[in-house]
Amino acid sequence: MRSIMGSLFLVLLSLSCAWAQAPPLSPPLLKVVIDPGHGGKDKGVSSAQGTMEKDLALALARELREEARAMGGFQVRLTREEDETFPWIRRKDASHGADIWVSIHFNSDFVGKARGPRVFFPSGWTLEGVKGAKSSRSNASDVRAILEDMVATKKANESLLLAEHLQRVLESVWSMGSRPSTEAQLMGLMDLEIPSVLVEVGFLSNPSDLKLVQDSAKRKAIVKAILRGLRAFSLDPRRQQ
Ligand SMILES: [Zn+2]
Repeated sequence: MRSIMGSLFLVLLSLSCAWAQAPPLSPPLLKVVIDPGHGGKDKGVSSAQGTMEKDLALALARELREEARAMGGFQVRLTREEDETFPWIRRKDASHGADIWVSIHFNSDFVGKARGPRVFFPSGWTLEGVKGAKSSRSNASDVRAILEDMVATKKANESLLLAEHLQRVLESVWSMGSRPSTEAQLMGLMDLEIPSVLVEVGFLSNPSDLKLVQDSAKRKAIVKAILRGLRAFSLDPRRQQ
């Protein structure tokens, strides 16, 4: 009896040592497409001083990729590397094999008072819309259609989840009151087969926002916040695996 207990103790000890020696769990690799908005002839919006959205978006996208490399756990692909004009289909091609899509834009308004980040997710992918389409289908044996519904539902849920995470982390940089992410008609993003969001990082028409997004230290804080949001999204148990 004593020898059996001794053996059991040794087994338990070796198991506990195995646990102790196991490397810490690393977060799953997240393959992210960063799409710097506009480019080339398409300048996007501009500040009163002439700072162009297309240039800031590309600068921030590059900084995001660099910081993501340093942080680890991300594989980042940019849809454009230069200041160039090209058709949407070329941007869309970058989404193949990726997990999520993040478009980077900057905002503007006529009055110049609006400020702060806004994160949008595509409308038309809502769970309610998908459920409605499913219940109206007469041929329930259409497996392909049901599978497509499942993919659309996952895409809708994860786009909303991603938008919520990014809105929350970006608010922390601005120290503004928390606002919800927003559903919007986002042409192009509707065609994508992966969860996608559009981030309007700040308002170029607002002097405080403009100063903030032109400040390299503040921009680094924005980049780190976005990566924190992406990491939180990738680990969120509400994601459908
Ligand atoms: Zn834009």
